[in-house]
Amino acid sequence: MPGPQKITLAEARAQGDFMLLFYCKNLAANCWHSGEVRLDTAIARWGGALRLDQVPARCTQCGSRDHVDVRARPPKRDGGPAGPIVEH
Ligand SMILES: [Zn+2]
Repeated sequence: MPGPQKITLAEARAQGDFMLLFYCKNLAANCWHSGEVRLDTAIARWGGALRLDQVPARCTQCGSRDHVDVRARPPKRDGGPAGPIVEH
C-alpha cells in the first residue's frame, strides 16, 4: 500500500522548512549514515518541483542510492519552537 505522497522541495520551503535531512537505512551494509543539506541549496540544484522522495540522494558512506530517506525540517530555534531562529 503506497504511503502518503511526499511534498516537493518548494512546498517544504513554503511550510517553513529549512534543511533537508538524509538518512541512510542500508540494513544489509549496517549503514545508518545521515547528513543535512540546506533546503535552498537543494532547490538551487534540483528545482523546487522535485518531491522529497525523488531527490537523487546517494549515501557517501556505503554508496547506496536505494536506501536513503529524505526529510525536511524547520530551522533550529533558541529556546524551543517560539524562540528566535538560530540558523541562517
Ligand atoms: Zn549508507
